[in-house]
Amino acid sequence: MAKTIITVAPTGAWPSKKDNPAIPLTPREIADDVYECWQAGAAVAHLHMRDAEGRGSMDKGRFIETVGLIRERCDIVLNLTTSGDLNATDETRMAHLVAIKPELASYDAGTMNWMHKTLFVNHPEFLEKLGRTMIENGVKPEIEVFDSGMLYNAIYYIKQGVIKAPAHFQFVLGAPGGMAATVDNLVFLKNLLPAEATWSALGIGASHLPILYAALAMGGHVRVGLEDNVFYSKGRLAKSNAELVSRTVRIIQEIGEVATPADARAILKVPARV
Ligand code: ZN
Repeated sequence: MAKTIITVAPTGAWPSKKDNPAIPLTPREIADDVYECWQAGAAVAHLHMRDAEGRGSMDKGRFIETVGLIRERCDIVLNLTTSGDLNATDETRMAHLVAIKPELASYDAGTMNWMHKTLFVNHPEFLEKLGRTMIENGVKPEIEVFDSGMLYNAIYYIKQGVIKAPAHFQFVLGAPGGMAATVDNLVFLKNLLPAEATWSALGIGASHLPILYAALAMGGHVRVGLEDNVFYSKGRLAKSNAELVSRTVRIIQEIGEVATPADARAILKVPARV
């Protein structure tokens, strides 16, 4: 069996210390958390930043500070969000990629209603600009797919040369406004992928473990972390992101092997940046 990449998403834009006191918010907290997750077996870190009040932020300075603290200590593959603040401008969503040139960055391949409250806007013009900026800066998109239309958008952009093949996909299932987190939906999406694509999946909240097990059974990679799920089990908060990573390592080791950051770079075909 091929090696499995564990991505950790330690903070996201939404959960607060009220949801789980272990959520890291400051650059120092996020960097310490990522280091712990790297020690536990995570190969990729998907990062969001927060402002001084703990709200999602695309502040370039915070990204630079956090990435600096992480790169001092470990070789984890960096995957920076481009969607950490729904009110950010197109330019602000990309400025940190130009400054930092991470191996990966999120590419949300379509617009959707967000949590039944607002819009998550990814205008076609933005997606073209983002794709070209990523190519120019050697950043590989992690194409986030919340529903099947986004996957078809991505296939269109691959054909247009806006996204380079082989593409890498993250199926984000169970977000209100997107596809439900069911195994049937995961199988359906996986069967639509271009032949050479790599993929990972996550289920939000209670669907976390069913989607994790299904993705492993189907040969996919997995994402865990407090961005997507603040619980370890029903009614019991996760003690830390590392606790979620450690459980995933144990599960993978029952059936295969956990990818190191170097393995992940080889699997995703991204050059080392550390
Ligand atoms: Zn994210």
